[in-house]
Amino acid sequence: MNQILVRGSRIFDPASGLNEVGDILIEGGRIAALGTVNAGPEATIIPAQGLLALPGFNDIHAHAWPGLIPLCVDPEAAGVHAGATMVCDAGSAGWANLDEAAELFARRGAAGKFSAFVHLAPEGEKYLPEQGYERWDAKAAKAAIGRHSDLVVGIKVRAVEAALLCKDRDVVATAADFAHSLGLPLMVHVGDKGCVTLSVDAMYAETTRILGFLQRGDILTHAYTPFAGGLFRDGNPVPGLEAAISRGVLLDAAPGRGQFSFPIARRAIAQGFKPQLAGTDTVALPDPQPHFYCVATVISKFLALGLSLAEVAALATGNAARAVGKSDSAGALALGRDADISLVRLERGLFIFTDGGPGNLRMGTELLRPVATIAGGKRYDISEVIAGHRVDPVAAFRQMRERKKAATKR
Ligand SMILES: [Zn+2]
Repeated sequence: MNQILVRGSRIFDPASGLNEVGDILIEGGRIAALGTVNAGPEATIIPAQGLLALPGFNDIHAHAWPGLIPLCVDPEAAGVHAGATMVCDAGSAGWANLDEAAELFARRGAAGKFSAFVHLAPEGEKYLPEQGYERWDAKAAKAAIGRHSDLVVGIKVRAVEAALLCKDRDVVATAADFAHSLGLPLMVHVGDKGCVTLSVDAMYAETTRILGFLQRGDILTHAYTPFAGGLFRDGNPVPGLEAAISRGVLLDAAPGRGQFSFPIARRAIAQGFKPQLAGTDTVALPDPQPHFYCVATVISKFLALGLSLAEVAALATGNAARAVGKSDSAGALALGRDADISLVRLERGLFIFTDGGPGNLRMGTELLRPVATIAGGKRYDISEVIAGHRVDPVAAFRQMRERKKAATKR
């Protein structure tokens, strides 16, 4: 049988309580042994001394239906070549183009695991802001999801101004009812930087109202957004947030480019509002800083915010698998499981992270750098743009000084 031996890494899985240097033997795409292992002479050896072997990361918020809409990257670019073995598309496809999306996916296939949150808007995020809520058809949507239940793990909606002003229906309430009727989690995007009609006060009031719809397992994405309608205002949680979290509603950091603020995250975490999930919000926009779209970088930002290695690892592994109902097949390293592994190097030094917005930089002393991905027992290299991401402290300090100067002028 085809054997792969990952040799000498630190096997680190907070869910399984593993933290030991050892080998991982992979046979037929599954984990066959952990610890000190003797492989046959035919085995392919992956030397991994000095690396961490973590359960394969699940990027719970990416845009990765192959070829569906310009917003999407290829699933491998978001996944195996970015250090993640599972990618969840966050609403790029809607219920009315789900057949098309599934066909594109079936024709092409993808390395690694792929799942999707289906948007309440008929064509998903083909149009931003979304359109077509007047065509909402619960029966048709349910049927479409039934045809592709192998792919669908949840429902997505964006609580942006256009949706909140929809004359035809209460979009977020509809999405919540629909998701709960199917027993699926609802992922709600919070924060809108482009409000023109609703006041900032009105946007935050809407967020409080929406929190009331959410149940255990629902996901608030862009949890530390600086935009109107976010979860934190002037350093404090919006009314209803604490209650929602105590009901089991999950916070997904999903920083993307600018839907995240270090000062907001720092103050939120100090008050106990840690994230449970760490999606990337990978999209196919031209980006001078592609490392934004790498789960390892996202969770490194939370190391810089004071979370422990075990905490940040859980965000992308056990928590992320549980959130999409895949705990049985993903998110842990254990005998007999699919061999989905993220090999990363924990680098120590001086790293400057940016939150992507007009705002802030944060210094860290640790960076998780993806080195290789093993998905279904096959090894994949990390793309050059992500593997080669270097942080230049001098340039970053200069940038930080410029920004401070510009801020005091304002
Ligand atoms: Zn998104």
